[in-house]
Amino acid sequence: MRKNKPTLSRRKLLTSGVAAGGAALLGGAAPAAAQAPGVVTRRRFKAWISRGNGAGRTTLHDVVLRPISGRQVVVRTEATNLCYSNVPAVLGFQPAPPPGVTPSPLAIGSGVRQMNQMAVIQGHGGIGIVEAVGPEVRRVRAGDRVLVSGTPQCGSCYHCLRGRADMCQFLSAIGADDLVVVADMSDGTPVFENSHIGGLAELMVTFEEWVVPVFTKASAIELGMVLSCVSVAGLGAALSPSLAPVEAGSTVAVVGCGPLGLSAVQGARIAGASTIIAIDPIQVRRDMARTVGATHVLDPHAEGSALVERVRALAAWPTDRLWSGGRNPAGRRPGAGADFVIEAAGADNAPPKLERSPDPTGVLAVQQAYQMCALGGHLITTSLVRGNILIPGTQFTIGGVTHHPGQAGGASPMRDVPKFVRLLEQGQYDAKSLATRVAPLERMLEAYEEVAYRTTITAIMTG
Ligand SMILES: [Zn+2]
Ligand SMILES: [Zn+2]
Repeated sequence: MRKNKPTLSRRKLLTSGVAAGGAALLGGAAPAAAQAPGVVTRRRFKAWISRGNGAGRTTLHDVVLRPISGRQVVVRTEATNLCYSNVPAVLGFQPAPPPGVTPSPLAIGSGVRQMNQMAVIQGHGGIGIVEAVGPEVRRVRAGDRVLVSGTPQCGSCYHCLRGRADMCQFLSAIGADDLVVVADMSDGTPVFENSHIGGLAELMVTFEEWVVPVFTKASAIELGMVLSCVSVAGLGAALSPSLAPVEAGSTVAVVGCGPLGLSAVQGARIAGASTIIAIDPIQVRRDMARTVGATHVLDPHAEGSALVERVRALAAWPTDRLWSGGRNPAGRRPGAGADFVIEAAGADNAPPKLERSPDPTGVLAVQQAYQMCALGGHLITTSLVRGNILIPGTQFTIGGVTHHPGQAGGASPMRDVPKFVRLLEQGQYDAKSLATRVAPLERMLEAYEEVAYRTTITAIMTG
């Protein structure tokens, strides 16, 4: 029997802008006339719009803000981080996954709309000032300084309630069909935002669940750095009580020293780790790791197949003697291994113009990270890899390593972001050193290329 299914016109969906998911997020989609005072409409703003395929898919436009409603929040961008994970969407690079790789069950399923046919403001976060709020918003007010967080926190889903806001249910509502129109281009094309966030524009139009008020006078660049998705993830990986917070006096290895790994190095220093071993193929990143707190740096090319043993040796205690406080496992394997290993390497989205990674898929780094972890130690993984991980079976089953995978380093925005702001204010987190490239909105694309080719540690776009 033929199913009597209503036909959905893709064109209609694209122009109407609100599919079922989007309407759900808008929460009843109160008509514009019912909005509270302070809601801005028809405001013009500059936005980088991505659509189509390949290089050149992102171009700068003047767009006009649509009326907001419900729990929507309009934020004037002060600073946004150019995140490496967004390189394919902004610059049009898309490395193919290696053959035989199991697709990630975490990927948002494709719906009726095709993201590459939509006009989308990329980016996923930034800091700024609230310009307007919908009538149902409670968390922030117009004039507040806020983080538009890469991770939402609704505070009422199962995951939020059990302390894992990094898995908040709202993360399942960011697919192409869930996005809502936030503005219009001059030819009437509706404009959407990546993950209801955007960032690569003068305004971010988001929902209450994605904003965290921050009460600070810190400079926009430093605040944009410490609250970038990568820094929040790096600090979270080292400090979040949701995963395995680093203990004072412990030995920490950080595999991969991009802005996330370098923030994890700082988190480990702040937590009082006694030994911090930073590993990265790029010399300037190893140098930066020393600047921000690493006690040892290792080049995976120079160490080659001995990398894991080298970390284990650096983590060794002064004695292996029985009864005398030794901890090396059974005396059969040299070196204790790191108490905490934070993996922050990830796959290459483009061939680096500086030193290349030993494995561009990021898989080797995860495998090595597992093996350099102490008996009874903790492995925290944070990166995006292309491939399946192979771990020696018996080491995996009885080796005593506890694996803590976390989205955004297990950070819980409303709980952790205010603490991270204090770390900046008190000089414990060095944001200045990490913000190696600052670019105004108009120069965003060239700064993003530097991020893609790893010739800068990261880049901050100012609004
Ligand atoms: Zn990011
Ligand atoms: Zn939630």
